[in-house]
Amino acid sequence: MSAPLQVRCPTCRKVGPWFEGPYGPFCSARCKWVDLGRWLDEDYRISEPLAPELAAAASGEEQPRENDGGANDTPETEPGAPR
Ligand SMILES: [Zn+2]
Repeated sequence: MSAPLQVRCPTCRKVGPWFEGPYGPFCSARCKWVDLGRWLDEDYRISEPLAPELAAAASGEEQPRENDGGANDTPETEPGAPR
């Protein structure tokens, strides 16, 4: 009766009547997974630099130095220890 809807496969850009097929707008399962994998790969690459661990490392936190040479600077002489 009615002509089947012609759609273009987003992966291989082939045009055909597979819109109502089991793979949606894709012409085959392979094209469907290829497109899905491309999206996942892109999303992973984008979110990687935004990881909090990498951001903290980029800020360059300085480690607090301990003053271990000022022991003589503080006179701690008790006038007389009460016994
Ligand atoms: Zn295809």
